[in-house]
Amino acid sequence: MSQQRITGAVVIPEPGVVIPDGEIVFSPATGVIEHVGPSRGPAGPGDIDAGGRVMVPGFTNGHTHSAMTLLRGYSDDVPLHIWLGHVREFELRMTTADIKAGLQLAMVEMLRSGTTAFVDMFHWDAELLAAVSEAGMRVNAAPAAFDYDAVGFPTASPLSGRELIDATPSLAAQFRGDPLVHVSYGLHAPYTCSAEMIADVAGRAERDGLSIQIHLSETRREVDQSLAAHGVSPIRHVENLGLFANQVHVAHAVHPIEGDVEILALAGATVSHCPVSNLKLGAGIAPSVTYHEAGVTLAIGTDSVASNNNLDLFEELKTGIIVQRGLALDPNVLSGATVFGWATAGGAKAAAAGSAGRLAVGEQADLVLLDTTSDSGTPLNSAESFVHFAARGSDVTDVFVAGRQVVAGRKVLTLDEEAVREDVRTRVARIKSELV
Ligand SMILES: [Zn+2]
Repeated sequence: MSQQRITGAVVIPEPGVVIPDGEIVFSPATGVIEHVGPSRGPAGPGDIDAGGRVMVPGFTNGHTHSAMTLLRGYSDDVPLHIWLGHVREFELRMTTADIKAGLQLAMVEMLRSGTTAFVDMFHWDAELLAAVSEAGMRVNAAPAAFDYDAVGFPTASPLSGRELIDATPSLAAQFRGDPLVHVSYGLHAPYTCSAEMIADVAGRAERDGLSIQIHLSETRREVDQSLAAHGVSPIRHVENLGLFANQVHVAHAVHPIEGDVEILALAGATVSHCPVSNLKLGAGIAPSVTYHEAGVTLAIGTDSVASNNNLDLFEELKTGIIVQRGLALDPNVLSGATVFGWATAGGAKAAAAGSAGRLAVGEQADLVLLDTTSDSGTPLNSAESFVHFAARGSDVTDVFVAGRQVVAGRKVLTLDEEAVREDVRTRVARIKSELV
């Protein structure tokens, strides 16, 4: 088939634009969108009749650690620094096969809930990146380095932080021809990575033309410790070390202090805030309105399911909107369309994995169809309101990435969902038995 046509849906190609009876035409081979606009007639042979549905661009999960689906519900109700200890004990026992199983479960959950791309920092190697490509998702993957001598995932990989950053450019080069995969340097955080290593990676990224992912200013405690140790905030600390000479994607940035927002804006950094994770861990509420007004490109992420506990970006979208309104005591402080833009185009910019996060001629067909005949879609007074406030991931029926159909009738086509779930149950039982 040289062209795929989907017609009859309410199409929201980008924030604030609604086509009540729309159609889209794209090439399944190249993924390139050839037409978006009002429907030019009913569905013919080979077309998809999307009557009763809403079409949106695929979401990008702006920050996650996908393999940590294995830790769903494993440690709740403790502060971040205690939680990190619990999680670490589990992670230390994860083999590469365990990580792949967790990644595949995450991809099933993300695809089924309308997420087509994700920005991820964890253990990454060629086999895991190939698994993403085979599942038909886009990824910005950063192999996580903790410090020069720290071995992040000893059961899965013997590599120290030093060896990992040495190996990152060749991993990136191996996938340069894959339009779905983008590899970044991964610095876990300034409280785990030494100043020397942060400055080193800043220089390497500039030399290699690679981007960087890092966690910054997630908790007030982290900011206080940075002030005590370095006399400056985590954001200014890495700025002083030259990090922002590169394209940097920052996770969290919940607690900026004086000058931090301006540093991120000036650097052209992308920032993913993770409203549900930050609330659940009691980390706080990122001042996303302040970032937005300063011109920072924002994304929204779930963080790992160990701190969420799901990968449903519809929940994140709604929370990301309403929490700011509650904080400001003002329902007009932030529009639903703005945060929808963070979940789509903002996240796509952060992922840098080939999609623009909007449906337009010449862009990639990464798109999602949602059932509006469900309770949450009835009555459909406003398609935008449905997407921003009422829809859930379970309303997603069909998903395309780069023009390839990866979910049809709520079933993932590229992974064996039940086999993936069963594999995860068995592996988690083994790891937990080792922890006793
Ligand atoms: Zn994280």
